[in-house]
Amino acid sequence: MYQQVNCPRCNAPIAVDIQQVIDTARNPEVKYTFLNGQLNMFACQTCGLTGQMTTPLLFHDPEHEMLMVYVPLELQLAHTEQQRLIGQMVKEVMDNTPPEKRRAYMLQPQTILSYQTFVEKVLETEGITPEMIARQRKQVELLQTLARADKDVVAILLEERADEIDETFFALMQNALQAAQERNDDKQVLGLTNLQAKLYTETEVGRRLERQQMALRKFQQDVRRQEGLTPQLLLTHILANQQEEDTVEAIATAGQAALTYEFFALLTEEIEKVARTHDKAQVKRLNGIRQGLLDFQRAIQAESQEMLNQANETLQAILRAEDRSAAVQAHLPAIDEPFMYLLSELLDQAEKQGQQARYQVLREVYDLIVREAERQVPPQLRLVNDLMRAETDAEQRQILSDNAEMMTPELAEMLTMLAQEMSADRPEMAERVRALQAMVAMRVA
Ligand SMILES: [Zn+2]
Repeated sequence: MYQQVNCPRCNAPIAVDIQQVIDTARNPEVKYTFLNGQLNMFACQTCGLTGQMTTPLLFHDPEHEMLMVYVPLELQLAHTEQQRLIGQMVKEVMDNTPPEKRRAYMLQPQTILSYQTFVEKVLETEGITPEMIARQRKQVELLQTLARADKDVVAILLEERADEIDETFFALMQNALQAAQERNDDKQVLGLTNLQAKLYTETEVGRRLERQQMALRKFQQDVRRQEGLTPQLLLTHILANQQEEDTVEAIATAGQAALTYEFFALLTEEIEKVARTHDKAQVKRLNGIRQGLLDFQRAIQAESQEMLNQANETLQAILRAEDRSAAVQAHLPAIDEPFMYLLSELLDQAEKQGQQARYQVLREVYDLIVREAERQVPPQLRLVNDLMRAETDAEQRQILSDNAEMMTPELAEMLTMLAQEMSADRPEMAERVRALQAMVAMRVA
């Protein structure tokens, strides 16, 4: 559900997609968004501040008969208000659970007081225990120490804590490096880059990951160099890396579009060929790979089918509505990439088959969505965009006069910040923003 909030830094209005109910029965994806720390994120288009909204959350996982709520203490809600909120979220879960699937545990949600515990309990449903989390926390500390330590200390630490340098550690290192690059923290970037290079050559995990990345690069190069991705090409690369399960998985993921009937026929042929050489170990290994890839392919198909079904349901609901504009607004959270993909495919189809009436209707929905997307941009930012697009001073002055009610100190301040941000890579633009700022400041006074 989109809610309008104000940016804690610059006070500009931001539309945030707030989700309070994480129901794995209805939408398993949301759980991963939450665990990645990406749920209820806001990004201020005006000043660039990003962060996470503090909001009550409910987690429901029927598989583990788990229903729990977290109400942040920071919100300082009165007890009755808290009860009302919890009641509302539980009702949402109930309403979306078919009667035959309702259970007693749903009537008594567990209340969790700390966010930390709430996250840990969700992680437990993924088979991730508090011990594993503690281990990861130690790894993060180790990483921070290593990135700053001098050579001798690094050598000692790598020996003493070798068991902590695993794939997770490499992933943490990669994330830390990216974050440092985004912050322009050159010192940290240098430290981490050196550490990464060292670990790739000096540890067993590092060497294995390096082999995997090389195999993946080689595969992608071949796809580009040869006539594109074919089942035969995919098979060749999978067979070449059959000893390393992770690499097979990585290649199959990158080449999933070629996991076709033809691919499996070729793989079966290959297994039969190996069987004639009586290499039982290899036959067993290839059969294992075949089964794994079949499961993988089924999972992808089910997932994309599910996404298309949902997109189609949304589209039908919008088409059925009397007021399509209102329907588009109501379904905004469901208008995602698969939805837009489906809509453009249908538009294409209607056009090619000369179905004029159908094309018109679909086109109307498409235009409504584009307009709605533009409306989501905060009005101040839209004004700044209009001003920047204006070609002459006279035009700018006209826009400023037309929007007299928006000449506020906040707008002036926003322009100052914008100019500061741009001054490094786009000095010319920054100069124009500064000139605008002066015009706005004058009108505010
Ligand atoms: Zn802001």
